[in-house]
Amino acid sequence: MEDRQTIFGDAAERACTYLNGIERRSVAPTAEALAGLRKLGGEMPVDGEDPSAVLALLDEVGSPGTVVNAGGRYFGFVNGGALPAALGASVLAAAWDQNAALRVMSPVAAALEDISLRWLCSLLRLPGNCGGAFVTGATMANFACLAAARHSLLARAGWDVEADGLFGAPPITVIAGAEAHASMKKALALVGLGRNRLVVVPADAQGRMIASALPRISGPTIICVQAGNVNSGAFDPPLPDKGDAWVHVDGAFGLWAAASPARAHLAAGLGHADSWATDAHKWLNVPYDSGLAFVRDANALRSAMSLTDAAYLTPGDAREPMHYTPESSRRARGIEVWAALRSLGRNGLAELIERTCRHATRFAEGLGAAGFSILNDVVINQVLVSFGPSTPEVIRRVQDDGTCWCGGTVWRGQPAMRISVSSWMTNEDDVDRSIAAIVRAARIA
Ligand SMILES: *Cc1c(COP(=O)(O)O)cnc(C)c1O
Repeated sequence: MEDRQTIFGDAAERACTYLNGIERRSVAPTAEALAGLRKLGGEMPVDGEDPSAVLALLDEVGSPGTVVNAGGRYFGFVNGGALPAALGASVLAAAWDQNAALRVMSPVAAALEDISLRWLCSLLRLPGNCGGAFVTGATMANFACLAAARHSLLARAGWDVEADGLFGAPPITVIAGAEAHASMKKALALVGLGRNRLVVVPADAQGRMIASALPRISGPTIICVQAGNVNSGAFDPPLPDKGDAWVHVDGAFGLWAAASPARAHLAAGLGHADSWATDAHKWLNVPYDSGLAFVRDANALRSAMSLTDAAYLTPGDAREPMHYTPESSRRARGIEVWAALRSLGRNGLAELIERTCRHATRFAEGLGAAGFSILNDVVINQVLVSFGPSTPEVIRRVQDDGTCWCGGTVWRGQPAMRISVSSWMTNEDDVDRSIAAIVRAARIA
């Protein structure tokens, strides 16, 4: 008991000290901190160490080697922070040590998945009786949705893909916009539909699929639509005629626009699709890792993901989490999703979405006023900015300066800096300090 008090007390205190100190920390770790990480290695210890000593080493050497993702000035990739309720729930859930595979292994995890799925379908304006899966991220959510699509389209063609595989199966045509996320292509590779068989529809200047260029649909077809381009934030337009095609939406972060009355028009019509992949660890601000797959026909997802031939796993009538996921044993990540939703409420979530979008607009206006080119229409939380040929050098200086962190990309053939405002922590002061740091870096470079 005493040991427990010591180790949890110690962990909680170190976590608080870390979070209280992030304001003063360089957003990217210093070269010295990175060099220090080697102290975590050396030879594998022959005899074990005291848990408190392990934790002390981890904190003293490891904490300085973190990227300050938990603060308000990390704008790389599309990384959210961790809301206090979600972080607290994560700590409690770690102590619970639940395996979310089956209801009998964790009644509470299964119940929280059921509740969260119902709330999420309503918030994201999806059909109320969707099948859903809690997975690691949007990559696995895309994978799960494509597996459900593959099952459904081939079953309609009289082929049992889970039993007989893809060899000799009727071909499936997969269509996506030229700006589909790289993880969509990886997911296509994983489900055996192939990266290179993809029929690519050209995209416009914002990265939106040009709907009028969609080929005529014939035979089993999946159309992959994007809600929220990872660079520009743009949404693919509604499809003119989808016929019998399975429409899948990659809405890793963009799907959350549906939860904000002011942005929901961007996601209008997405509710008519057949499957949706999104992340909870981006805009919902739950700890990593957390993605969500939704499928209109719950049985298609279940057929694609069910295990067979394991008598000891035979479930009852209720929804069994592992029958909807690629994994069997699994972290109970639905607990954090529930805590985030419960602590935000509908209004809090709408406000989080709206506030981060407003900060993105503030970035675009500030950098635009300083004379730099904003390359995208800032429709949600993503900003693309160019500093001309010195853009890669400016990005390097911004990262070295440590006030904030922004990454780079190539947008329509030219290098650009990406700013993604996805964290609940970011406030106007963070935006203004970051604009000042970026302008300083750009004037020197
Ligand atoms: C981030 C992202 C993904 C991949 O998500 P992970 O959570 O990293 O697996 C897929 N699609 C889009 C549009 C994204 O922004």
